[in-house]
Amino acid sequence: MKNRFLLIAFLSLAAISCQKDQTVQSEPEFPGVQEALWPYFRLFEDEAAARGLTVDLVASRITAEIASIDEGNVIGRCQYGRYSGNHITIDAEFWTRSGHLGREMVVFHELGHCYLGRGHREDAFQSGSCASIMRSGTCCCRDAYRTSTRSYYVDELFSTD
Ligand SMILES: [Zn+2]
Repeated sequence: MKNRFLLIAFLSLAAISCQKDQTVQSEPEFPGVQEALWPYFRLFEDEAAARGLTVDLVASRITAEIASIDEGNVIGRCQYGRYSGNHITIDAEFWTRSGHLGREMVVFHELGHCYLGRGHREDAFQSGSCASIMRSGTCCCRDAYRTSTRSYYVDELFSTD
């Protein structure tokens, strides 16, 4: 009799801890955003904050996913939603073959469209390097987003002129 009581107590404890896990999972940091993209959404907010800007991507209701984009060299896309939030797609193939900086550059670029409302900027330095990560990728400059140039490009991204 005593043993059966213990077993029931144990089972209900297991059920409670199970429910607790589910509660944690149902509160995503960025709702509607694929979890692999959260670190880059967080970095975008942090880099904005470091420059004195308040960016709240949850409030923006931007959704995002990694999925294959069957369109030539397109590695990312921002779709403007009139009634829902804007939606970002990052190309799955690009994501797989890229490292941290490549992934960050394309997520920041799409947030440049979808959150900051920026268009493309194609101009280049004399070296041929793009002046902005908001380049279209179909024009005339070369990407140079590296650890050593990152702070310039992130400054440029958030500059409002
Ligand atoms: Zn673009």
